[in-house]
Amino acid sequence: MSNIADTLRSTYESGTTRSLAWRRHQLEQMNKMLTENEAAFLEALRTDLGKPAVEGFITDIAFVTGEVETMIKKLKKWNKPERVGTPMFNMPAKSHLVPEPLGVVLVIAPWNYPVQLLLVPAASAIAAGNCVVMKPSEVSAATSALLGQLVPKYMDPSAVSIVEGGVPETTDLLSQHFDHIFYTGNGTVGRVVMAAAVANLTPVTLELGGKSPVIIDESADLRVTARRIAWGKWLNAGQTCVAPDYLLVAESKQDALVEELRKAIGEFYGADPHLSDSYGRIVSPRHFDRLESLMAGGTAAIGGDTKSDERYIAPTVLVDVDPESQLMSEEIFGPLLPIIPMKSVADSIAFINARPHPLALYVFAENKNVVSNVLARTTAGGVTVNGTLMHLTNPNLPFGGIGESGMGGYHGKAGVRLFQHLKPVLTRGTKIDPSIAYPPYTDRKAKIFRRVL
Ligand code: NAD
Repeated sequence: MSNIADTLRSTYESGTTRSLAWRRHQLEQMNKMLTENEAAFLEALRTDLGKPAVEGFITDIAFVTGEVETMIKKLKKWNKPERVGTPMFNMPAKSHLVPEPLGVVLVIAPWNYPVQLLLVPAASAIAAGNCVVMKPSEVSAATSALLGQLVPKYMDPSAVSIVEGGVPETTDLLSQHFDHIFYTGNGTVGRVVMAAAVANLTPVTLELGGKSPVIIDESADLRVTARRIAWGKWLNAGQTCVAPDYLLVAESKQDALVEELRKAIGEFYGADPHLSDSYGRIVSPRHFDRLESLMAGGTAAIGGDTKSDERYIAPTVLVDVDPESQLMSEEIFGPLLPIIPMKSVADSIAFINARPHPLALYVFAENKNVVSNVLARTTAGGVTVNGTLMHLTNPNLPFGGIGESGMGGYHGKAGVRLFQHLKPVLTRGTKIDPSIAYPPYTDRKAKIFRRVL
């Protein structure tokens, strides 16, 4: 690991990555890697997660190529010094913010969107002018192996490196000196990463998870609500950091909502979702066992069936939920959807505010006052109103958490800025150099200062 870090550091110091042409070429190569090997990527995602090809294409291929294309298009603009105002007392002078790369960056990714969550931060770091070490998750082993084989073929190995492995390899990497660490995964390991970063005062971005709630007001359009929740929840079999974790529904609407969810599941995945080509699988037997045991926290109103040999868990809606159960105390990160009836939106807000800040929050309501009340009185990493997941697909909205759900945001320009220091530069002219600015401090000068400052 220290050889890798040393190689990248000397490349960084050579100035190679400062060239915009070099950055553009690396970004083009990343997209070439994805398009030329699309079939192999989709196959690896199917092996790891039973990911339907369309889902794999949208979330792990097109999402990345789209972000990277924007970075290529905006490369010059986003890396130009930004002129800012200069106060009178500095004159004559000009002021700029000069975007500078940070140096050598480490990106550690999880297994649920194993291409997107590794390559989008890595591309942002490259567009910003850094060298990068990428560490894919060992849990999505087939995708990790494919990336491990392809990245060195397509990208400059003296500046962009990939290290496969699990805890020992990551621990070893974390003992090296990086200029930024970008970690996506759970909060327990997030704390390990942050503790390791202390040694070198390395800044960290933590993209974590948590229980993302959905408020369903009595004014909501239940058919659209159910379809949008079903899509966001059962995409990737619920293994999405911003998937709806639980529903807080107006109690008068619970039964109707369950029926609409039943219809949506039927439309999306057929009468037996196990036979559907559009429904994924749980990533590993360990994760399957955890989810199966979480089901004890409620009663299955829809689904509930499992097949351990295939790591299949049906889209499942749980009612009569025990608020003290593990189902309601840890992030579900799978296809189980508990519903809790609520007497009022105020009660739903209080329920959410009694828990750590979520990564995402969703509110479904036709009543605009309900929406503004929820927005004003809750805190979350991001929000989609009358929808799920979609806020993270707009590159103009930085994506990230707050508190227990993480720190720092990326995507689009925010992602590139995350891996840069905006260096303030004040450039003064020399034609005028009034002596009022210098000692000795006479009474006359003091009076002038008091007037103009
Ligand atoms: P994971 O098990 O793949 O771990 C993530 C990374 O951490 C892996 O690369 C792994 O090798 C490394 N790691 C694991 N243990 C480590 C240790 N002790 N020391 C150093 N590194 C270690 O993935 P996970 O954590 O199970 O991912 C699921 C979590 O990630 C969920 O909480 C989910 O909400 C969150 N997540 C967040 C986002 C986001 O963008 N905010 C996206 C996806 C997932």
